Amino acid sequence: MSTAALAGSCPECETDLTVPPMVHGETLSCPECMLTLRVEDVRDGVLTLQMVEVQLRDWGQ
Ligand SMILES: [Zn+2]
Repeated sequence: MSTAALAGSCPECETDLTVPPMVHGETLSCPECMLTLRVEDVRDGVLTLQMVEVQLRDWGQ
């Protein structure tokens, strides 16, 4: 594994993002639109990101 940053783009505002190495399932916030994005796939240094639906009531208690 290299320490190179990963590239991706926000599915909402299409901002190009460069982030530290992440793995499937991790989340980050888009600096432009502030949406929470989840890593769906990492391939050849390129992230596939998906918006996270905020449904707090469906989790936990
Ligand atoms: Zn965005």
